[in-house]
Amino acid sequence: MSDLRFDNKVVVITGAGRGLGKAYALFYGSVGAKVLVNDNGCDLDGKNTNPKFADEVVATIKSKGGIAVANYDSVLNGDKIIAHAIKEFGRLDVLINNAGILRDKILAKLTEEDWDIVIKTHLYGTYSVTKAAWPIMRDQGFGRIVNTSSGSGLYGTLGQTNYAAAKAGIVGLTLTLAKEGERRNILCNVLVPVGASRMTETIMPPDVMSGIDPNNLTPILAVLTHESNKEYNGGIYECSGGFFSRVRWQRSEGVSLDLPVKISEVQKNWAKINDFNGKNEYPTGNADLFNKVQENLERLEQQ
Ligand code: NAD
Repeated sequence: MSDLRFDNKVVVITGAGRGLGKAYALFYGSVGAKVLVNDNGCDLDGKNTNPKFADEVVATIKSKGGIAVANYDSVLNGDKIIAHAIKEFGRLDVLINNAGILRDKILAKLTEEDWDIVIKTHLYGTYSVTKAAWPIMRDQGFGRIVNTSSGSGLYGTLGQTNYAAAKAGIVGLTLTLAKEGERRNILCNVLVPVGASRMTETIMPPDVMSGIDPNNLTPILAVLTHESNKEYNGGIYECSGGFFSRVRWQRSEGVSLDLPVKISEVQKNWAKINDFNGKNEYPTGNADLFNKVQENLERLEQQ
């Protein structure tokens, strides 16, 4: 397959002044896209602002012949970010929700402010920018959105209740939008990256940092957000250091019990309920569970 280009496509990337978002912006700027480089330039904990990071990325893209504009709005003001892209470039094709902060603390030490600002920046921020982008993508019958989650959101990480909750929320939001957008050719996927940035520099040794260059995350963004992707929607992709995989839910074979359910029956079947070595399933919607309920009710009727 030849390399993908994004000529005349307008790409909005939040938090693109540093870290992973910067690599994404430089990539899209190098393959023909018009890039809105959003970044409010805040500290890792969300305090302060600084326009220079977005400016520097825009300058780099332009110095290589690309097209880009800087935007310094917080992702809490998604309407301003999208309005800026439309004013500057007249359309919007791809949205990468990437901006983020950390306030890591164990729950006992977490303050209301630590909770709120992390939930707001990641989850509300992703919602806010997407909400503003959505009608434009819906009306033009084209949109590609990638939202950023984290291993914390999928698996939980000590000291990250706020961050993990926000990142898990982003998964639910994206899977729902994948269902809502499908008929309008708006495809929404989740990226679960690990890449060298200020977020990882304090927890990863230098040799690992050099192996997780965020530039190696851009090929999957290209594949997911290119117009040639007509199929891959509602995926959760774990990517780092050249490793790429898709994650999905797994349901154990489980048991269907007689009604009313007795505690002793749950106890008797506990091993089976927890057993992933039986006929596992990979549910993708609520209907899957309703089918199980229906099957059990039919079984009981025939008794
Ligand atoms: P980073 O701190 O290097 O970059 C994040 C950028 O977002 C910063 O430049 C910051 O100024 C900007 N930002 C923060 N709040 C903003 C706001 N309200 N409005 C606009 N911009 C804002 O972090 P990173 O490692 O590049 O992380 C990028 C994304 O990837 C984040 O969502 C993060 O949670 C996620 N992530 C990163 C890793 C990793 O290994 N680095 C792992 C899992 C998830």
